[in-house]
Amino acid sequence: KHSRGDTLEVFDVTLLEENNRKRAIESLLHQAIEQDKELFPVYQPKVDAQGRLIGAEVLCRWISAEVGFVPPDEFIAMAENSGSINKLGFWMVRKVCEHLHDWQKRGLTIPSRVAINVSAVQLVQKDFVEDFIAILDHYEISPAQVEIELTESGLLTNIDGCIEKLNALRETGLTIALDDFGTGYSSLSYLKDLPLDVLKIDRSFVNVIEEKKASELARSIITIAHHMSLDVVAEGVEEPSQVNTLAHMGCAIFQGYHFAKPMKADEFYQWAIDNAK
Ligand code: C2E
Ligand code: CA
Ligand code: CA
Ligand code: CA
Repeated sequence: KHSRGDTLEVFDVTLLEENNRKRAIESLLHQAIEQDKELFPVYQPKVDAQGRLIGAEVLCRWISAEVGFVPPDEFIAMAENSGSINKLGFWMVRKVCEHLHDWQKRGLTIPSRVAINVSAVQLVQKDFVEDFIAILDHYEISPAQVEIELTESGLLTNIDGCIEKLNALRETGLTIALDDFGTGYSSLSYLKDLPLDVLKIDRSFVNVIEEKKASELARSIITIAHHMSLDVVAEGVEEPSQVNTLAHMGCAIFQGYHFAKPMKADEFYQWAIDNAK
């Protein structure tokens, strides 16, 4: 009985510590969002096969004074669970607007668009569309300069509601990309049901593009996308051979470390000037 009690106790303590750590980080994140500190956006170029600038994706970074760098996969999931993703998400939209404004003043126009990640939690909020558009209006940014990247995994609930909102967003001139395509369980039905402009082929396909099965799948995905008049972006491109293979299949837009890593706004500005068409 005694030894069993010990084991349980050790187990509980471990759990508690993990939960405490999570709670602590969650509350630090909450503070960072509320006090507008430690968080910043980085921009990763989207390019053509020659490496010339087409657009960009904005990604959130958090370097906490207390716990240091926290991976986005970790803190975004926390923010989704706690609901603070809504505030963080709109904060990102405002930052993008400020940067677009600044870049324009300094002579840089992004040929295509800057894409902002939006999770299902955000999209289903009652006033999401109105609030999003109001921010663009406030900064006098045209919706045609902005794209929304939707991650398919979280979308499952209330598909009809999502379709309605995506249609409303597209009516303003904003475009919609389906992120991480091929990793969820309902990829094809999303492709059928959601109003979309862009398909992003997930990194896990691009990684193994030299393998027969993956390349047949990628080729088919690109063909389907084109039949549906969707642009295709290959993400996580790290090797020149991957660019070649995908370009031959008809993929025209690339994103990945082979071309450029995500950069702070000023560094991105310089990169974009240097790699303009
Ligand atoms: P994602 O939307 O799929 O973003 C692409 C991720 O791949 C980014 O990770 C990016 O840094 C990374 N990446 C880009 N090129 C390469 C490459 O060549 N090789 C490899 N190995 N990785 C590459 P990151 O920045 O860590 O973000 C992780 C995820 O967190 C994102 O995945 C996105 O789902 C989420 N996220 C980031 N920022 C935001 C945000 O502001 N809002 C929301 N809702 N989600 C965000
Ligand atoms: Ca994305
Ligand atoms: Ca992605
Ligand atoms: Ca992802």
